Amino acid sequence: MTVEAAPTTLPILSHWIDGRPVEVLPEQTGPIYNPATGQVVARVPRGGAREVDAAVAAARAAFPAWRDMPLIARSQVFFAYRELLWRHREELATLITRDHGKTYPDAFAEVTRGIETVEFACGLPVHLAGMNTPNVSTNVDAFTLRQPLGVAVGITPFNFPAMVPMWNYPIALACGNTFILKPSSHTPGATQLQAELWTEAGLPDGVFNVVYGGREAVAALVEHPGVDAIQFVGSTAVGRYVYETGTRLGKRVGAYTSAKNAMIVLPDADMELTADAAIAAGYGSAGERCMAQTLVIAVGATAEKLRPLMLERIANLKVGPGMEPGVDMGPIYTAEHRESIIRWIDKGVEEGAELVVDGRPFHHPDNPDGFFLGVSLFDGVTPEMEIYNEEIFGPVLGIVHAKTYDEALGLINNHKYANGTAIFTTDGGAARRFKLEVDVPMIGVNVPIPVPAGYLSFGGAKESAIGDLAMRGEDGIRFFTRQKEITERWPEPGRRPALSLVFPGNS
Ligand code: NAD
Repeated sequence: MTVEAAPTTLPILSHWIDGRPVEVLPEQTGPIYNPATGQVVARVPRGGAREVDAAVAAARAAFPAWRDMPLIARSQVFFAYRELLWRHREELATLITRDHGKTYPDAFAEVTRGIETVEFACGLPVHLAGMNTPNVSTNVDAFTLRQPLGVAVGITPFNFPAMVPMWNYPIALACGNTFILKPSSHTPGATQLQAELWTEAGLPDGVFNVVYGGREAVAALVEHPGVDAIQFVGSTAVGRYVYETGTRLGKRVGAYTSAKNAMIVLPDADMELTADAAIAAGYGSAGERCMAQTLVIAVGATAEKLRPLMLERIANLKVGPGMEPGVDMGPIYTAEHRESIIRWIDKGVEEGAELVVDGRPFHHPDNPDGFFLGVSLFDGVTPEMEIYNEEIFGPVLGIVHAKTYDEALGLINNHKYANGTAIFTTDGGAARRFKLEVDVPMIGVNVPIPVPAGYLSFGGAKESAIGDLAMRGEDGIRFFTRQKEITERWPEPGRRPALSLVFPGNS
């Protein structure tokens, strides 16, 4: 059960448009819950077409000057912003834990990983360098310029309230675009501070804007003629809508979507290390990570060794409020999502998987209204089951048995999702084969959550990504810029080429 306090007694977030907060009436807001207590802690505006129009107008007006700002001056704003983020990282992490429920060390790690991409963006003068090829023909040189697209939008999910936006906006802004962020309404607390810190860092008004809201705000952004590019991160169904609508209207869109990741364990793996990895990757952040490994594919007799080691670790896990020291896993982010995970566990039992550990009865003694759930472990999960095929996005791990490496590889390659994967082995040759053969773009070798470093690209395939380019890194720069190819002739003094109607050749 969730308890909503009277709207007027609580702090209210403001949209951030043209470098300043846009205040709203309490009636135009929705609740933000602290999942550890089940109490409403603040209120978030429900924006729509009006706020989107204002944000797009501000972003369009700010675009020419931001695009034309000398690169060193632009990168100095990034250096200042990075310093401010670093100084405020504890505050950001505290807000994330309050809204999302993840443990404070996990939230702190999220902020740090997000800052990596801001640090990458500080080097923007280098990233925006084009190519220059002299002498492509007689007295003709070729240049490539990378130029911003205009107004870019980030629509982001609840599960990484700071890190995922930090994978979109630093790159978009570094490339000279202006930006509108539409964060999840469930976990928006850390967003306001990021907007304020941009202004403090010296970012001109209108370059970074925030509009809160749900379906209505998203529709207004996706359909707005003043928006040029959108990066969406969230579920596949919404991502497909954003991608199809946005691209139909001529925008550049990338959607980075749902996942169901599996790790293969070969019989020669270090089982203690693998058990630690499986527990961390499956239950960290209550399984609410798009790179969580929720299927453990045990090859040969591996499961007999691995399962007891996993059970030992599960017995020692501490579930509780994310701010409490020593807690391994916090609550689920909403009461509704908690119910949905419970329905998935019911479904797994119906489908015939063996429920070895049942997290459903767990209640936190000091926080009876918190959205807590214990961890669950299934064994004997098979590809025919829905719990094998669908994303649960909760602390539910499934062990799958495969007789051989080839069978395990086939399971991963035939899954509809392809975000991240991992192999656990001490055999370098087997690991090498896996890297070449697996149809998943982000791969760990003895690394359970292979989120690439902040200066590399991040993105899945199949139902886990819609569009051609990944987020951030080299792909991010390509995504947020358009290339111009310039062919330039400067004849030698006094020598004009003869008139010719022949198609220009390169000689
Ligand atoms: P979601 O799709 O519900 O929400 C994402 C964004 O879309 C939010 O800003 C939300 O306000 C908006 N939205 C939600 N429903 C909408 C609708 N009907 N119409 C228009 N807009 C809508 O996703 P979520 O629950 O916040 O996040 C969890 C999902 O995100 C999981 O599927 C997870 O795998 C995925 N995810 C993917 C990645 C990745 O990089 N591939 C990273 C993080 C999370």
